[in-house]
This record gives sequence, C-alpha cells and structure tokens, in this order.
Amino acid sequence: MTIKQLLQQAQQRLSAAEKLESEDQQNALREAQLLLAHVLDSRRSYLMAYPELELTDTKLSAFYALVEQRCQGIPVAYLLGHREFYGLRLEVNQSVLIPRPETELLVDHALLLLPENGNAADLGTGSGAIAIALAKQRINAHIVATDISADALVLAKKNAARHQLCNIEFYAGDWLKALPDIPGTLDIIVSNPPYVRAGDRHLSQGDCRYEPQLALSPGDNATDALRQIVQQSPAYLKPFGWLLMEHGFDQAADVRAIFDQGPWQNIRTIVDLAGQPRVTMARLSPAAG
Ligand code: GLN
Repeated sequence: MTIKQLLQQAQQRLSAAEKLESEDQQNALREAQLLLAHVLDSRRSYLMAYPELELTDTKLSAFYALVEQRCQGIPVAYLLGHREFYGLRLEVNQSVLIPRPETELLVDHALLLLPENGNAADLGTGSGAIAIALAKQRINAHIVATDISADALVLAKKNAARHQLCNIEFYAGDWLKALPDIPGTLDIIVSNPPYVRAGDRHLSQGDCRYEPQLALSPGDNATDALRQIVQQSPAYLKPFGWLLMEHGFDQAADVRAIFDQGPWQNIRTIVDLAGQPRVTMARLSPAAG
C-alpha cells in the first residue's frame, strides 16, 4: 500500500473512532500524517512529496499500531513523544501535562515583566515548558522551577538539557516550599497549576483522560492550588514583583477575589486567543515589601 492510500485509510479509521464531523476530517488527516511521519522518521512534507512510496512490513505494522492506539484515545503528543511549545520541541510522556497553546500567553506576559538578568520561578513545571521558554528567551535570567512529581522533574531536566539551558534549576516539592530559602528575591512567579474541579466532565474527555490527574485537578475545590500559590508568593517576591497564573475560563473573578484578600495591586486578567479570560496577574504591594 502506498503512503497516499495508507493516509486515506487511516483518516477514515480515525474519523470513525473519534466520531468526527466532516469539518474535522482535516484534523484526522493531520493526525494520520503526524503518526506516519513519526514512523518514517521524517516530516509531513516528505509524505506529500512521495505519495506513491510503499512501506516495508515493519513500518506498516508500526503505523497500524499507532493508529489503533490513537483510536483508543491516547493523545497524539504521547504517541509521538513530543510537543512543540513556544517554538521549542519538548519531550512529553504520561507523567506530564501536554503543553497547551493557550499557556504561551502566560509566557508572553511573563517576558514583558522579567528583566534581562532577573529571577523567575515556575511552579508545577511539568515538562518544563514555561521555565524552558523563559530561560531560552532570557538567557541571562535565572529560573527556578518546581514540581511535586519526581517523574516530571526527570523529564523537565532532560528537556532543559536538550535545549542547552544552564540557567534553570529544578526542585522537587510543593509550589514555592520546594525552593531553598530565597525570601524576597524573585522578580516574577509564574504557574499553570491544576485548576479543574475533581469530577468535572472535562477530565473524562479527550487528552485529559490520559494526563496525570495531579496536573489537572487540585481536588474538590478548583481554586485550591491557585489560592495556595497566591498565599505563598509574597514571601518570595521582591517588592513590586509579579505573580502570573493561568486559570480556567470561568475562574477570573475567583482568582481576583483571592488576590484582593492580600497585599496585591494592579490585579488584571488577560484574555486568550479564543477570547477566554485565561491569565490573571498582580503585583506585590509595597506595603508588604
Ligand atoms: N487547560 C487545561 C485543560 O483544559 C487544564 C490545565 C490545568 O489544569 N492547568 O485541560
């Protein structure tokens, strides 16, 4: 069977399994191309350039196996073993959340606030996505990143090494408490913490089914992790330092209310490309400095 025929067949199989409407057929084709390019250790453009090429039996069965796994719902990023974030290829596996495009918004705003040689912390770093994007863009800044999952940290360190970054340090533990004693030294703190309520139907749909629940949900109270981070942060920030957090599309008011209880000023929420309130940030008030 040729590449062209194989892709058509896989597109149909994926469309049927994912119950895609016709306008999403393109997505099934894209997934089939990504999986086939992976098996052939090439790019999607190679598949377009050589549609008549025939696969060896070994490659063919490897491709069929991936398509079947995808049909069962396993995320494409886990099947490929990587995902692109902020223009950087990051290795991913089932011990970390798959980096989302909307989280790039958090990086954009963090970069506006992080001085060239500033200090930043990324809490719950997972694959290292946010910390690595910041470290790459601010090569003279110093980034610390924490995660409670030892497996996640193994991967994050690997990703940092792959991108040849020496300006990140990783620490295991709970949010800021994982860090050595560095009170009042950070210019910014960023985090994409778990913010989906336990039992939310979102958790039993799509990629979320296969992602670490620890990275998605803090439990029955969706804003628990967000609140803990807001409460821990003043001790670690410089006076006028910023805390930026990603949150759910319907949590902006709750997060602002949490900030309102503490020594914070300039509280503001940023809307993502889909028009959803996605990141809320605030500045440590000098009174607390
Ligand atoms: N944005 C993710 C989702 O929609 C959730 C990420 C998180 O909990 N931090 O699944």
